[in-house]
Amino acid sequence: MDYVSTRGQAPRLSFEEAMLTGLARDGGLYVPETVPTLSHADIAAMAGLPYEEIAFRVMRPFAGNTFTDSEFGEIIEKSYAGFGHAARAPLKQLGPNHHLLELFHGPTLAFKDFAMQLIGQMFQVSLSRRSDRVTIVGATSGDTGSAAIEAFRGLDAVDVFIMFPNGRVSEVQRRQMTTPSESNVHALAIEGSFDTCQARLKDMFNNLEFRDAVKLAGVNSINWARVLAQVVYYFSAATSLGAPHRSVSFTVPTGNFGDIFAGYIAKKMGLPIDRLVIATNHNDILDRAMKTARYDTGQVLPSISPSMDIQVSSNFERALFDAYGRDGAAVRAVMDDLKDGGFQISQGAMGYLQDHFDSGRCDEDATSAAIAHALEHTGELLCPHSAIGYAVAEANLGASPMVTLATAHPAKFPDAVEAATNIRPPLPPRMADLYERPERLTELPNDLGQLQSLIKDKIAS
Ligand SMILES: *Cc1c(COP(=O)(O)O)cnc(C)c1O
Repeated sequence: MDYVSTRGQAPRLSFEEAMLTGLARDGGLYVPETVPTLSHADIAAMAGLPYEEIAFRVMRPFAGNTFTDSEFGEIIEKSYAGFGHAARAPLKQLGPNHHLLELFHGPTLAFKDFAMQLIGQMFQVSLSRRSDRVTIVGATSGDTGSAAIEAFRGLDAVDVFIMFPNGRVSEVQRRQMTTPSESNVHALAIEGSFDTCQARLKDMFNNLEFRDAVKLAGVNSINWARVLAQVVYYFSAATSLGAPHRSVSFTVPTGNFGDIFAGYIAKKMGLPIDRLVIATNHNDILDRAMKTARYDTGQVLPSISPSMDIQVSSNFERALFDAYGRDGAAVRAVMDDLKDGGFQISQGAMGYLQDHFDSGRCDEDATSAAIAHALEHTGELLCPHSAIGYAVAEANLGASPMVTLATAHPAKFPDAVEAATNIRPPLPPRMADLYERPERLTELPNDLGQLQSLIKDKIAS
């Protein structure tokens, strides 16, 4: 199976190369040339299987010959062994036709662990086979960074640098990034927003000289392997609720469009998904785009759901690629316009997007109200991101069962949860000493040159 760039001008790569590379050399994102499909019988056979077994069946066709079956099975086993729940992604019923998919039982308490743990194990097998090493640089609004550091800490073939917006991540998120003591872990607090961090990351990837000199590898949600890992829980949830014999809908709290794009891939693989609902906070570029056909970046406003504080939604490019009939030149043209602040989505592309996605937004007050409402009516304490999903899902309930993705544990965002409910959610016992561990970080201005020289210095030492 080959991977092609959404901008049509980068070399085709194998799964392994696409995974190790991240962003394509033409600035685009890698997507599979064709999406493999599973039959009705294949999907029916998944009901009741362990998560790891479903993961193997869903992801195997995408990985080509990068791993043998036994290597791949072992990678999956190791990836989820550290999770705090036997079901890995348990479903909980919230109402007559509304279910919560709990994606926060991994080591850093957010759904990012599903992909990052898998990527860590895949990088380890692949790099040690090649006797190679790489420098991973990531940009995070909080959860990707902590998940990446957790997945790569102590691996000798990898240095990991994570940029996060200084002062704009929660204390738990920051501490998960700054307390690991391994010398291959580097937490960088950057002046600016998540979009600033993401822009500098793209600059580094587009600086081919720097990129090659440090063997840059990306694990942001632009990395195809991340998206792939997230396809799995759409299958586990839907088959638990009766798919493929009935269809299921999903509402997904969205920032960079990675998680919901994984749902779209599940649908393309043959999973009967009725509706895929995008849920945004007041940084609502995606909801506006779906309603107005204008994709215009605004200023990023801080919120109580910081992992969704994004106005340039990277993975949306993958959806645009399909919406524009897989025409790389058309994607290049709109991405060029984006440099000037925005673009108009063509009528044909808009029709395609509206066939596949619905959307809704939730402002700050509505988010707090949703946290309180969920507690009162279901007894569940939701993190603010999950609460946005909950509120938007409640407005979109229909005939098919609705599954809302709970993307983080409430204890990761205790201030927002406490403000809404007067209850301060405790950390699970396995990480209760997080507030006592010493922190280590480097503060930096928004300056590409300084960033690049710091990275070069650290990996040389
Ligand atoms: C990353 C994240 C999101 C947004 O996910 P995308 O894949 O970027 O859309 C939502 N909630 C939480 C808790 C996250 O960490």
